[in-house]
Amino acid sequence: MLKLLIILLYLSDKAFEAVVDYLDHSYLKRELPENVKDVYDEEEYRKFLAYRKEGGRLDMISDIISITVTLILLALNVHAFFFRAFSAMNIYVQYLMVILVFSLINTVIELPFDYYDTFVIEEKYGLNKATKKTFWLDAVKNLIIGSVISYALIVLIMVLFERFGNMAILWCTIAMLVIMLVIMLIIVPLMRIYNRFDPLEDGELKDKLMELCDKYKIHVRKIVVRDASRRTTKANAFCTGIGNRNTISLDDNLVNAYSPDEIVAVFAHEFAHARYRHMIKGLPFSVCNLLLVFASLAIVLNIPGLYAAFGFDGMNYYFAQMLTGIIIWPISTVIGIIGNFLSRKHEYQADAFAASEGYAEPLISALKRLNREALSGINPHPATVVLNYSHPTLSQRIDAIEKISDAYRG
Ligand SMILES: [Zn+2]
Repeated sequence: MLKLLIILLYLSDKAFEAVVDYLDHSYLKRELPENVKDVYDEEEYRKFLAYRKEGGRLDMISDIISITVTLILLALNVHAFFFRAFSAMNIYVQYLMVILVFSLINTVIELPFDYYDTFVIEEKYGLNKATKKTFWLDAVKNLIIGSVISYALIVLIMVLFERFGNMAILWCTIAMLVIMLVIMLIIVPLMRIYNRFDPLEDGELKDKLMELCDKYKIHVRKIVVRDASRRTTKANAFCTGIGNRNTISLDDNLVNAYSPDEIVAVFAHEFAHARYRHMIKGLPFSVCNLLLVFASLAIVLNIPGLYAAFGFDGMNYYFAQMLTGIIIWPISTVIGIIGNFLSRKHEYQADAFAASEGYAEPLISALKRLNREALSGINPHPATVVLNYSHPTLSQRIDAIEKISDAYRG
């Protein structure tokens, strides 16, 4: 009975996602909002629709396969089987082995789809720049890093819950918070596993960017350029760090191809994230989120029937965190909605700052170009925006930027 309930919960989550995907896809046929009609010309728009269609089909097949595999694993008690297979080992080694097995299973399922996406779809539409070597190296790195993170997380949960019982809800939250803060500070060194980050060269552009930092007395520790072009033609930028230790990263695809004003506009947006301390402002929300997750985990840990239903002799931390993820999906969805809402608010604020600095026009032209060159969607279904969008839609952003810019012009 419990087993059936879990499987139904899992399926309801996937069905919900499928409905949202379907709504989003059917929205593609709608007419575009007026202010983004010029993002694609007719031929580009046809290309965009074809790209979306192929990507959507691939995602659907990949989802069906991954759901089927998960159902088989749950129905046949495969998790318990592997824990028993490694039961002769020390418990930490046992957990490590099981995590490696399931990370491998996931990689084997996902890799063919990633490969097809990169070398068939993205290649066909001129978005891919990754070589086969980069692709396989990434796959190995992802497998190792993914396994290390899952294992570290499980060990942390196991040690704290064994030691503190339900008080571990608090300790796990504190531990995760500390880890998040450390990651914010060292994200660029960590990302060097995947990319090169070179300091922005001295020159006119750098002077302009530093001028902005000096004006607001915000210390940006580093402005770096990421070699995104080793994988893709798409471009991005981000700001990370806390206090006076901000790093702003601009992709080489941006720095090498966009006009100086457009680059400064994108930088001003990222700079605003530092100026308004958006990363720190997101922390109270993260704390609530973590508390909720660990409290749910504590409840799941204390339902012995759950483990017996899936073939375990007793409680299991790995399986418990997996079950928690399935059981709390409606809560996670609500948390996601709130988190994305806060994030979109910060994005509006960052755009407004760039506009108030006089970069409204180049920001709009940069955003349009970034969308066009990435063949990004510009007409998502409102439900997708509410559920999944950390940024407002392109049309909403342009609207807001124009209003600010009009207000500043008087
Ligand atoms: Zn932003």
